[in-house]
Amino acid sequence: MVSEVFEVDGKRVLVENIPAQICAQCGEMTFSRETTERVRRMVHGEAEPSGVVELDVFAYA
Ligand SMILES: [Zn+2]
Repeated sequence: MVSEVFEVDGKRVLVENIPAQICAQCGEMTFSRETTERVRRMVHGEAEPSGVVELDVFAYA
């Protein structure tokens, strides 16, 4: 389970407890098609946020 920040219409939202698959070869994290679709629907207004967090933003470059 991972938490990911997504940008939706210029606004950042955090989705917690997303089931992710980690590639055994390269360590890359991927979401299943179903998970991706469900997250997409949630952040586009189909679900009520469970809370609000403050977000520190860092720009690498
Ligand atoms: Zn891989």
